[in-house]
Amino acid sequence: HIKREERGNFGFHLESYTERVRERMELVARLRDAIDNDELILHYQPQMDRERHMVGAEALLRWRFDDRDIPPDRFIPLAEETGLIVPIGLWVLDQVCAQQARWREMGHSLQLSVNVSVRQLQEADFVAQALALVRAHEAEPQDIILEITESQLLHDSVLETVQALKTAGFPLSIDDFGTGQSSLVKLRTLPVSELKIDRAFVKDMAEAEEARKICSTILSLARNLALSVVAEGVETEAQYRFLAAHGCDRFQGWLFSPAVPADQLGTQLPSLTGEP
Ligand code: C2E
Ligand code: MG
Ligand code: MG
Ligand code: MG
Repeated sequence: HIKREERGNFGFHLESYTERVRERMELVARLRDAIDNDELILHYQPQMDRERHMVGAEALLRWRFDDRDIPPDRFIPLAEETGLIVPIGLWVLDQVCAQQARWREMGHSLQLSVNVSVRQLQEADFVAQALALVRAHEAEPQDIILEITESQLLHDSVLETVQALKTAGFPLSIDDFGTGQSSLVKLRTLPVSELKIDRAFVKDMAEAEEARKICSTILSLARNLALSVVAEGVETEAQYRFLAAHGCDRFQGWLFSPAVPADQLGTQLPSLTGEP
């Protein structure tokens, strides 16, 4: 009796496994041409200062084809495993610099944040290429914040590159901070200028005393190390107020705006930045 059920389950798992492998191969094949086929697009999510004025935005990649939206959490890992994140990442940086230049021409100077994978940092010429892209758009490295997740930053293979990026003038931000394993010693030696509180802690703030304590601890740690802090996933006034009261510098989340296409954000810029 039990045996047959087990076999049934096994059959089911095998089928879904095969299905997943096939889908994965299809996505990888498609991702190879995604840039050329104009299937990738960047959305921008505003970051606000303590006075709720927009001072920057994070660029977030979107992949759309045949009326399908593949979420980044699906395709970024594929891009990382296949190395496709290297050309895709350069494309992202180029797009972001170009967009920043357009907004600058409209009179808005915004710091833009770009997500960078460890795989990109392992390329020998990443720093030189990043600098070349920024200069090609007459921007300054200071205006492009590079976000690296805490867990990826702990790879010893990237420490030299991370140091070189800092020397080149790029501000570095530790993304999803609080979910990795940085020791205090490591944190003090890493050349970063910003911590980005993971949205899991912000999310649980209302219900869990624990999450509030983690947030306020990160904020006082950052103050002691003279790092600035941005909170991601801010959805409610209560979250914003708690974070602001504990010294958070910048805020990003649906309370202010989701990630939106550049053109849409462009029309909202005057009201969001509080500038004419
Ligand atoms: P991330 O860098 O931690 O980005 C924050 C994620 O939180 C984004 O998800 C954003 O849309 C989402 N988010 C923002 N505000 C809120 C909120 O108030 N509530 C909730 N529930 N979510 C919010 P998204 O766009 O799906 O991106 C997922 C991840 O994919 C990013 O996490 C980042 O690690 C990666 N990613 C996105 N674009 C790129 C890219 O160009 N390069 C690389 N290497 N990774 C990227
Ligand atoms: Mg990020
Ligand atoms: Mg994050
Ligand atoms: Mg995250």
